[in-house]
Amino acid sequence: MKSVDDRLNHLPLFREYPLLRDHLPHVSLATLPTPVEKLEAIGQEIGLNNLYIKRDDLSGTIYGGNKVRILEFLLGNIIHHSDTKEIITIGFAGSNHALATALYANQLGMRCTSMLMQQANAHYVRRNLLASHYFNANLRFYKNPPMLALGVLGLLLKSKLRQGTFPKLIPAGGTCPLGIMGCVNAALELKDQINAGLLPEPDLIYVTLGSMGTAAGLIVGIKAAGLKTRVVAVRVIEEKMAHPGRMLRYCKQTAAQLHKFDPTFPPLAITAADLIIRNEYMGAGYAQFTAQAVRAADFMREKTGITMNGTYTAKTFSALLDDANNNRLIGKSILFWNTYNSRSLSGFTDNVDYQQLPPAFHRYFETDVQPLDNGNDR
Ligand SMILES: *Cc1c(COP(=O)(O)O)cnc(C)c1O
Repeated sequence: MKSVDDRLNHLPLFREYPLLRDHLPHVSLATLPTPVEKLEAIGQEIGLNNLYIKRDDLSGTIYGGNKVRILEFLLGNIIHHSDTKEIITIGFAGSNHALATALYANQLGMRCTSMLMQQANAHYVRRNLLASHYFNANLRFYKNPPMLALGVLGLLLKSKLRQGTFPKLIPAGGTCPLGIMGCVNAALELKDQINAGLLPEPDLIYVTLGSMGTAAGLIVGIKAAGLKTRVVAVRVIEEKMAHPGRMLRYCKQTAAQLHKFDPTFPPLAITAADLIIRNEYMGAGYAQFTAQAVRAADFMREKTGITMNGTYTAKTFSALLDDANNNRLIGKSILFWNTYNSRSLSGFTDNVDYQQLPPAFHRYFETDVQPLDNGNDR
């Protein structure tokens, strides 16, 4: 068996910038590097000779997706700096982040309280709630952000009074400089794969823009690695929750901390010109599927068997297809960053009846899913 130290050596971020190890406690959760594959059939059909996919859907053996990389740093930090076993995180009812946090916290002997807000119904929402329950999440439902904020405050105070300590709060999507470092590492991992000849240096990476951490980390890591690649971030949430100004701050803060912890990490000048944000593919709002995204997901599934998510990756892939159809990608090398878990959760969810969930969540099982949810991501 590999020792923890051996595995740390395998993170390109620590290999390239060894001093970071002293500042960034880290716990190995992910199976890295994630594969890169050529999307031959899809590329042929849409006229791209160099279309690739980064299989972050396979980043974990029981649960993958982009959040695993982020949690390695956030949970590593919590384990190292405190002995609390209580974690709080927030998101929407179907949050992949909340599920990933509950699942990996549980694996590490901690318990997650997931404070979740109302969202449009979909099959994946049901599945994520059942799986979160299976992995011992304490689920709480809120109608809107102010109610959620009050709930978080109340819970923090209650825990402090009862146990003398505050639970550790992980922000929505794990998005904060420390979590983002997991995605800086992902960009360096990509550089290794380019060097190994697994794919040409991409002109563009298409990635979903939710709480913005993943895209921010890729931008910082790509700059640090000296790649020419540009990140096309496809927004799937309202601008007030994913603001470009805040994204730029995340990039700058993350890069500055990395440089501070290891001065050989290059000082990076990141500006608004480094952000490409596409706003046309969200549709009516967060988690509201679009017909275009559902078609894109079905296309991917037919050609590769890979499942996309109507809230996130399907919208991003629809942007890529649209750009290809409009001849914007001719001759370019394109990488689709696949952020959605593709490991089956049925072994966990099959054993949970929704009646075991707090009553506020029963609505997702007792009302229909949205009409555009065709059940292909069940
Ligand atoms: C959370 C999530 C994203 C967005 O990542 P951010 O770092 O929040 O921008 C994209 N795709 C999937 C499937 C996600 O769960």
